[in-house]
Amino acid sequence: MDFELRDRQVFVTAGASGIGRAIAIAFAQAGARVHVCDIDAPALRSLAKEFPAISTDVCDVSDRSAVERTVASMHSQLGGLDVLVNNAGIGGETAPLERSDPEVWSKVLEVNLKGTFHVTQLCIPHLRASKSGVILNMSALAGRLGYPNRSAYSTTKWGLAGLTKTLAIELGDSGIRVNAILPGAVNGDRFQNVLKGRASQSGRSIAQETALAMQNMSIKKLVEPEQVAALAMFLASDVASTISGQLFPIDGDTQSIA
Ligand code: NAD
Repeated sequence: MDFELRDRQVFVTAGASGIGRAIAIAFAQAGARVHVCDIDAPALRSLAKEFPAISTDVCDVSDRSAVERTVASMHSQLGGLDVLVNNAGIGGETAPLERSDPEVWSKVLEVNLKGTFHVTQLCIPHLRASKSGVILNMSALAGRLGYPNRSAYSTTKWGLAGLTKTLAIELGDSGIRVNAILPGAVNGDRFQNVLKGRASQSGRSIAQETALAMQNMSIKKLVEPEQVAALAMFLASDVASTISGQLFPIDGDTQSIA
């Protein structure tokens, strides 16, 4: 069994912070060659300062021409592409659908679905040239359960499941595997902000909100970004060479979001 990822060429979107950053660093530490894009230039600079082997580009994945430039730059930096990690995704607003702002709703679709489409379509020719092409789409718990007050987010994360299954069939003949990762509550700024928001609405403490969030989990622990990265590395490795078109929850067996 070969977990070896040395010299694999890996492109991570939205990798300047959070889960994407953990994935980029984990692959780089395993000897892979990593390129990261993000909209946050200062965060990209600090990543590149800490890990000079990781190359970076400022890019909003919902901007087609920016993605065209970034994929060209990624290819010239890495010299090819084996693994694409479609990690970019925004949460949108917290509101019931009937009070949702149509512009914000569209923006979530633009980044989470259309952005993934742009990056994937432009990367496929490079992945076809790889002997071990892999696409990993970052869905979420909200991509297998309903998520009240987050309809746009949940819609896009379920959409990524359809994209994953469809692309796995379309690209299987080229030896490209396509899978999705569905994290639940991941330890980090984003989830802490969700808890703060809930606490300010409910009057409960953050500790109480954390306990409530874990009520419906068999394993009552937050997922660490490094654990999501480890799952991504397993799925990208040749050990997983027969796994495609699948959706992998990593959420302590969460049974409900609400
Ligand atoms: P995050 O909110 O911490 O953001 C990560 C990065 O995305 C940031 O550096 C940000 O600048 C970048 N970004 C935002 N919009 C972008 C765009 N249009 N183009 C390029 N980069 C952009 O995110 P996170 O919590 O690390 O989540 C990463 C992915 O994992 C997302 O798709 C998210 O939906 C998914 N996810 C997160 C959690 C969680 O609890 N954090 C749970 C399930 C799924």
